[in-house]
Amino acid sequence: MKKLLFNRVFDGADEMFAIAEKALAEALKKHGEGAQVKMPNTGYFLANCLAYLNKKVTTLGELKACFEEAKAEWMPRNQRLYDAFRRGKGTFIAGEVVEAIRYLDTPEPYGDGPNREFWGHMSDAEVRELGVPLVTGDIPGFVVIIGKAPSDEEAAELIKGYQSRAIFVFLIGECIQQARRMGLTLNFSVRVVPVGPDLWQIAHIISLVNRAAMIFGNTPPGDHLGFDDYTFKRIRAFVNAFAPVPDLEVAWGGGAIAMGFPVISNDTNDTWPVPKSLIIQENTKDFIETSLEARDIKIKVTKIDIPVAFSTAFEGEIIRRADMHCDIDGAKLDCFEWVTTKETSEIEDHKIEVIGPDIDTIKEGDRSQMGFVVEIAGKNMQKDFEPVFERRIHHYLNYAEGIMHTGQRDLIRIRVSKNAFAAGFRAKHFGEILYAKLKGDYDAIIDKCQVKVVTDPALLKTLRADANKAYEARDARLLSLTDESVEVFYTCILCQSFSPAHVCIVTPERLGLCGAVSWLDAKATNEIDPNGSCKVVTKKEPLDDVLGIWQDVNDAVQEASHGSLQQVTLYSIMTDPMTSCGCFECICGIEPTTNGVVIVNREHTGQTPLGMSFSEMASMTGGGVQTPGFMGHGKQFISSKKFMKAEGGPARIVWMPKALKELVGARLNKTAKELYNIDEFTSMIADEEVSQDPESLAAFASEKGHPALQLEPLM
Ligand code: SF4
Ligand code: ZN
Repeated sequence: MKKLLFNRVFDGADEMFAIAEKALAEALKKHGEGAQVKMPNTGYFLANCLAYLNKKVTTLGELKACFEEAKAEWMPRNQRLYDAFRRGKGTFIAGEVVEAIRYLDTPEPYGDGPNREFWGHMSDAEVRELGVPLVTGDIPGFVVIIGKAPSDEEAAELIKGYQSRAIFVFLIGECIQQARRMGLTLNFSVRVVPVGPDLWQIAHIISLVNRAAMIFGNTPPGDHLGFDDYTFKRIRAFVNAFAPVPDLEVAWGGGAIAMGFPVISNDTNDTWPVPKSLIIQENTKDFIETSLEARDIKIKVTKIDIPVAFSTAFEGEIIRRADMHCDIDGAKLDCFEWVTTKETSEIEDHKIEVIGPDIDTIKEGDRSQMGFVVEIAGKNMQKDFEPVFERRIHHYLNYAEGIMHTGQRDLIRIRVSKNAFAAGFRAKHFGEILYAKLKGDYDAIIDKCQVKVVTDPALLKTLRADANKAYEARDARLLSLTDESVEVFYTCILCQSFSPAHVCIVTPERLGLCGAVSWLDAKATNEIDPNGSCKVVTKKEPLDDVLGIWQDVNDAVQEASHGSLQQVTLYSIMTDPMTSCGCFECICGIEPTTNGVVIVNREHTGQTPLGMSFSEMASMTGGGVQTPGFMGHGKQFISSKKFMKAEGGPARIVWMPKALKELVGARLNKTAKELYNIDEFTSMIADEEVSQDPESLAAFASEKGHPALQLEPLM
């Protein structure tokens, strides 16, 4: 006789609790109650214990207490659907217990680096990385694939099917080996993550999702129904479970359903489907369609005439030297990309011209050259939009499977993989991509577009010189754009889909904190849809020049935040600072001993002199609330004359990771020279090689005569 679904959930949860119980008992015997328990690179402790029980677990003793609490809360066997689903939560805690012990026994139990066999725990930085693609719809959803597909081929087909629809894929169990046997690349950058071989590694996925609710949604720890509400409404996730589905897996599935994530399975043992929650789809080949429908995900497809797959999921793909057909190298040869405005009469829409030899004339593995001239006409086209479109080229070309693009302007580098070349990818396909994506994304601005793909060396030389003249003119225009010189600012509320109260005010000298929305980007977005995510903010009523307060800005944030914000200053970190949503590139926080601020970027995993890592600092702010003393911001903002202007400007910066210093150094030094007449300001800023604690930081600052030491006290 078939077991009732309820009983499958209950029995599975019992099984999971027993596994955790055993692991806990062994760990206590081996390490004792005081042993430190933590996951790497997170400011959220064990995120599931924090989310569901409001417990900041740091020791094995505390972990045990959490487990006991979960047992008391989620063990009772009531034959009610509600309890069955809720038991999933106990299962999540039990799974987290097992994994936390694993990380206690062996730090980095799954190895580290992008080629590790299993991923295990995902860092806060990885969670935050998802912010922008989620809000822009570049990641329309998440799938957790569990178990063994009927064949290796089918596993690969399913994964690639999701990948080509830009759905983020997590793999659990045997499908990982199946994908590996089929030669698929598996890592976080290509958005196919081999989480782990056992069911309880699902706890890491639940942890990622719960941290998203805390980071972006400001969901208060302990409010476990609040987490379900957030995940149901804002995270479009679902599960594909291959038959046979054991009871243990059913228990995890119950939890997923409680979070609002439907489970699609071909296991006909569960003949009791729950509409929109547990869906039996016997034909695994229809998993994708059934899943997308269950979670109401509509995929916008841009039809592009190219022989390779095209999806945002391929943006992070790396093409190694050994795998490349050719290396288009702007550092050594004449290459460039240039978007320019033309009259309508000068353009034949969708004309793609290849001028010079095609890439099949290049010997495999050789260096070569290429330039793109993208010519645009439209009633609403403005010269100011040229750099906005030009910067999109980097993303668009990377979306093609087997194409890797880095750099910009005349310092581009493009690799075409052997596989892409073998599939028939040629020079004209670059033009097809640029045409289709630009027209698709900016149809309100671009009426006509044509692309010249140039490979002829002589022509490349002259066109590159023309492009450089255009870049220079553009830079002069960008320099003239200051907060004072423009008539309007813009709001951006794109992140409200995850962070409902957050608003960015985007100005020429302060780009959005994600680093992806400059004032020109916001202007173009507003042009496409004046009532969309970026609205005009006038600046007719200035209230305070130093702090950067305008009545118009206050009115705009009040409206856009639905009343949760009353006032923001644009130039202060201490007085009514701008809020953070969670997807910021950098976080800065005040450092009392030097009277300055420490800035750390998302990529940096080490400690700062504040005694906190990026993750820990980042967890001090987010979710659209104002937190004086901590502020998320874009990398480019660091060299802006408006950075903390109210508190003395960039002269407050006392510490940054070395890599960030190198990235923003030239501009920051220029700003410091202009503002304070200081030469080589970055040499006064400490980094991880000089200091990781307040004492050595203070010593370094005083040795260098750092200007922050002379400024008014911050607190
Ligand atoms: Fe989100 Fe602000 Fe970036 Fe807009 S500008 S996408 S609101 S972080
Ligand atoms: Zn954001």
